[in-house]
Amino acid sequence: MSTQTIESRSPQDQSDVVVSAPAADREAVAAAFKRAREAQQAWKRNAVVRADALSAAAAALDAAKDQVVDLMVREVGKPVTESVMEHGRAVRILRYQAQAALDPDGDTLPAAPPADMRTLLLARRRPRGVAGLITPWNFPFAIPLWKAAPALAYGNAVVLKPSTDALACALLLEELLGGVLPEGLFNVVSGEAEAGQAVIEQADVVSFTGSTGVGLQVAQAATARGIASQAEMGGLNASIVLPDADVEAAAKVIAGAAMGYAGQKCTATGRVLVLGDTAEFTDALAAAVDGLAIGDPKDEGTIVGPVINAPAREKLVAAAEGAPGDGGRVVTGGKALDGPGLLFAPTVVDGQQPTARLAQEEVFGPIVTVLKAESAEQAVEISNSVPYGLVTSVFTSDLDSALTVVDGLETGMIRVNMPTSGVDFHAPFGGEKQSSFGPREQGKAARELYTTTHTITIGPAS
Ligand code: NAD
Repeated sequence: MSTQTIESRSPQDQSDVVVSAPAADREAVAAAFKRAREAQQAWKRNAVVRADALSAAAAALDAAKDQVVDLMVREVGKPVTESVMEHGRAVRILRYQAQAALDPDGDTLPAAPPADMRTLLLARRRPRGVAGLITPWNFPFAIPLWKAAPALAYGNAVVLKPSTDALACALLLEELLGGVLPEGLFNVVSGEAEAGQAVIEQADVVSFTGSTGVGLQVAQAATARGIASQAEMGGLNASIVLPDADVEAAAKVIAGAAMGYAGQKCTATGRVLVLGDTAEFTDALAAAVDGLAIGDPKDEGTIVGPVINAPAREKLVAAAEGAPGDGGRVVTGGKALDGPGLLFAPTVVDGQQPTARLAQEEVFGPIVTVLKAESAEQAVEISNSVPYGLVTSVFTSDLDSALTVVDGLETGMIRVNMPTSGVDFHAPFGGEKQSSFGPREQGKAARELYTTTHTITIGPAS
């Protein structure tokens, strides 16, 4: 172990050290991979055994609901209502992937002449080996599991390097899974970039979720080694409000999508594109935002809790302070709030051009900028004008308008009359452009990354 110590503190109470642990150095990461490789040898042999073990893992996580929820609230400041939802989703992911282990593991194909019907041409899926997973802090159970569960279901072992801000959650996951899975199959290594790089150097396949800058480096490093990888990265998601939308209803949904969990979701709304006069919508949005309960994530009514750490809050203060100089008017919020907790006031800005910083760069917090568009075509153009392409939502009561706008959007996920945030655990998840690299995550789509296909031809002996 290195001499560096990782400390994860609660965003609600910075004096509360949730966990303190030594960072894993190269040797410690290598030891985790050795354990994983040994465990994978038996694990890959039987899918029915894997399905049973993953069902038991789902039950263990389900039974630990209170412990999981309390820790999530304490370590990452996720409001308790959302933490309960994340726990439920994490359990469902495990249940789903337990059954996915039993899906067909390949195809049979007709063989070319001179082969006859006795010849078997098979395309068969096999696990890749040990999956190296690198994850952010914002979904401390769901994201590690939406990678680990399919990796395990298809016969891989796992080494997970979580964010240091969510280390205690990852260690609890390791403890819960360790109680029911074979020893050495699911391993957590603590640490920052150096540990992440050591994981990439030793993995057989890499899955990353985090910021775009880091994700692109991870994908490059994995590609340089010739291994498969996937990176889910940042977003600056737009909601488009068409003239026939129900303004009050759209404003409420968008307020929740922009500010819930203090805007710290890759799928949060960061831009709203309004056709024509923006004033009516901006007023409705500001009113909806001002009505959101801010405070202690332990309180059931809280929608907006603290942001993850002090540097994150400083970045938000700087972004809000920079808005007026960048053509914007701060309609509501715009400043840090007194604690307890690292609170930042949910902030609505308007009057900016689509080229403004807030309209081009992800700040990852409760700030939304309302932009004006002259037509539905222009709204689509503005929505597509950022380097990201994760999710867009469209608010309208007209089916034809919805279909036309949906067709032009360059994001991996598109939603109509729904918040940009929100993910179905069994549907493909991922974006376009600098939001995603590699195959989609979740559901059946996850098989692409965690398996490789072997083409096998078996002919008669004579
Ligand atoms: P981050 O990029 O700072 O860190 C992500 C992970 O990468 C952490 O485990 C970190 O320790 C590790 N890491 C950092 N530098 C590394 C390096 N050089 N090599 C290898 N690993 C390294 O992201 P974060 O602050 O934890 O999370 C917030 C970001 O995650 C936001 O940009 C958000 O949009 C994004 N996110 C994306 C999705 C998605 O599915 N698209 C989901 C959640 C969060």
